[in-house]
Amino acid sequence: TRSPFVDYDYLIKVVVVGDSGVGKSQLVARFTRNEFSTNSRQTIGVEFATKTIQVDSRMICAQLWDTAGEERYRALASAYYRGAVGVLLVYDVTNPKSFQNLAHWLSEIKAFTIPTCQVLMVGNKIDLKGMRKISEPQGKTFANTNGMDYVETSALECLNVDISFTTLVRGIYKNTI
Ligand code: GDP
Ligand code: MG
Repeated sequence: TRSPFVDYDYLIKVVVVGDSGVGKSQLVARFTRNEFSTNSRQTIGVEFATKTIQVDSRMICAQLWDTAGEERYRALASAYYRGAVGVLLVYDVTNPKSFQNLAHWLSEIKAFTIPTCQVLMVGNKIDLKGMRKISEPQGKTFANTNGMDYVETSALECLNVDISFTTLVRGIYKNTI
């Protein structure tokens, strides 16, 4: 039984990383508030949002950390990742640079998280069909080669957003709680 003062059994920290502009903040907004904004301002420093989801009979409160992807904030990387049990690693399927930079993000994740930390790779903006540069098999191959599951999303059209976060939280629950 839960305490009357909290409405969850577990509180977990999940960080969202990836290049600037790939849609991290919009994915978090869509998942936690079912919102999307086309003129989203750039994230400064770190922002937080929480959402509680049920896994089996447990209520798990995911505290999502959303950061600016800018190099100049990276001095804070070790503090940002500290205590994280999950990472949502996002790129933009219309932006090859954001795909190439996944290797950099993976090395950062490896350096700053515990080995059991679950990482889910997300290819966002699949609504921009004519502008896609990275195919689904390409994304999936990279993910699987690096031991990650892969989901493609659109924060704009609300495609697979819930699935991506809940897949990650389920993985965390199964493997690390
Ligand atoms: P962040 O820097 O990674 O947090 O990226 P933002 O969430 O701020 O999004 C950057 C830009 O991409 C904004 O103009 C968003 O409106 C847009 N965007 C985010 N997600 C999507 C998506 O799924 N589809 C489309 N077409 N645009 C998106
Ligand atoms: Mg942002």
